[in-house]
Amino acid sequence: MKIPEEKIEEIRSSADIVDVISGYVQLKKRGKNYIGLCPFHQEKTPSFTVSNEKQIFHCFGCHAGGNLFSFLMDYKNISFVEAVQEVAEHIGIQLTYEKTTETAEQTEQESLYEINVFAARYFSDILLKSDDGEVAREYFKKRNIKLQTQKIFGLGFALYGWDHFLTVAKENKIDLLKAKTLGLIDTRDDGGYYDKYRGRVIFPIFSPNGRVIAFGGRILENLENTAKYLNSPESLVYSKRKSLYGLYHSKEEIRKLDKAIVVEGYMDLISLYQHGVKNVVASSGTSFTDEQVQLLSRFTRNVILLFDADTAGQKASMRSIELLLKQDFEVKIASLPKGEDPDSFINNSSKDDFNTFINNAKNFLEYQTAQFEAAGMFEDPAKHTEAIRELVKSAALISDELKRNITIKSISRKFNLREKLIETELNKLLQFQKEKESRIIPQKEAINGTSSRFISAKENPYEKSLIRLLLGGDLKIAGYIFDNIIPEDFINPKFRSVAVVILENLKLGSVSPSLIIEKTEDEELKKMIFGFTFSDDSISKKWDDFMIDGGIEKDSFRYAVDTIINFKLYRIDEQIKLNNQRISKSDNETEHLELFKINKELAEEKKALSTRN
Ligand SMILES: [Zn+2]
Repeated sequence: MKIPEEKIEEIRSSADIVDVISGYVQLKKRGKNYIGLCPFHQEKTPSFTVSNEKQIFHCFGCHAGGNLFSFLMDYKNISFVEAVQEVAEHIGIQLTYEKTTETAEQTEQESLYEINVFAARYFSDILLKSDDGEVAREYFKKRNIKLQTQKIFGLGFALYGWDHFLTVAKENKIDLLKAKTLGLIDTRDDGGYYDKYRGRVIFPIFSPNGRVIAFGGRILENLENTAKYLNSPESLVYSKRKSLYGLYHSKEEIRKLDKAIVVEGYMDLISLYQHGVKNVVASSGTSFTDEQVQLLSRFTRNVILLFDADTAGQKASMRSIELLLKQDFEVKIASLPKGEDPDSFINNSSKDDFNTFINNAKNFLEYQTAQFEAAGMFEDPAKHTEAIRELVKSAALISDELKRNITIKSISRKFNLREKLIETELNKLLQFQKEKESRIIPQKEAINGTSSRFISAKENPYEKSLIRLLLGGDLKIAGYIFDNIIPEDFINPKFRSVAVVILENLKLGSVSPSLIIEKTEDEELKKMIFGFTFSDDSISKKWDDFMIDGGIEKDSFRYAVDTIINFKLYRIDEQIKLNNQRISKSDNETEHLELFKINKELAEEKKALSTRN
């Protein structure tokens, strides 16, 4: 059963987000928007903002955001369909359903989920109910994991032997090929199947929405030639790079406290959770990926990395720190005393002790400095310089300028160095990064081969205005813009991908920010929409002026026309400049003639555009 797209669209466009959210949050009007205390994190001054005009909400404190459906999904922990049903009921629209016409991929995906759920139940039943599960029950008892906790995390046990799961799977007519894709069974040389998980305690891995996407299995006895951990392979429903163990269970608490503690292993996480520390995710022993950082950023941008004292963990943490800093996270590091892991630490102390320990976590700069100190780098003058250079390198990763400057100040204070000196070092690094990026962009352009006459890689100052206009939600304006330019015309890769998404939606007949937020998984794009909707920088003021003037449609359309002309003029100027540079650098006469000819055409184009302006 599925609610038809048109019906969802009807509900979306008839319902009012302010009306819906007012049922749960006290909202006050401020300017064009409504504000209130955020229901997703604890706060005393309101940073939860709802736009009546764009039909979206955003919290500046915890970065929660979305449209009316996602508000209900997050607030009440319900599915998309349930959220649509609730809104429909609220505004009195009769829902209709259609028989699901899912794509082949969706059907395939659903059947994989079903097999995973079947397997998870099977493993869990063995742990909780069967006689043979006793050894696993003993194991969890020894590790102080309560029955209730075992149930919450869906823990299980896979029996010793080669065909226990296989037999049950056959009896229940499970598609064995699919079970193999999911890594539950594998093929023998003679073509038959055998169980992959044998004699292991099982940790199901959930998606952020609570679906079983994979399994981790830890061996119970240290058998020779057997890996300690066995994990599901990548599949249509599971990508290791994109999933974080424990997030489904901890996301509410992470958002509420606006911080996440990152541990390495499943057991660390489960143990902390059981002791009431519920804002935890596990990186599963490896360093973070970009995708995991992006996933986490939906819930918080404050992270405390909790690591064992051993050096392996610390090496992995440096890579994670880099990725987190790049995505504007506030990063702290808590290093456990020698010989302790999170599991043993919390079992031997109290939740209060643990919280004190977490509150004393060092910021990455203090942490890195301590590491260098321990390595004796500050005693050797040559290494001293190298250490400071490393610290500045980390600081250069912070993309927020203000935060970066504060960090630089504290480096200079700590080492008694002139700020100027460190700034020079930093600027060298930043310049280097910039050059690296600008070298990448023209290459991309060349591959796309969009317009042979335009190869300029400099970002156009009108790009941002155009994106803002596109995100304004006006069909006529978006249509006009795409009549005149194509997404590939944008130099800034972020803007280019936004334009692609908007164009796709335009073809389907809508460019409402509320719809785009619902359809996209792209966190950057969402961030941009929130930024444009709720910020008050100069272009936005200009935009607001148009609104206040009353002549909304006519004036913003005029603004779009002007911006496109300016955009094109700027591109032409840049291109002429670039061609001139090429002429002065080249000795090839044919190339000269060709470039002169192009420049002449560009000049004519420019004249034609200017008279229109
Ligand atoms: Zn919030």
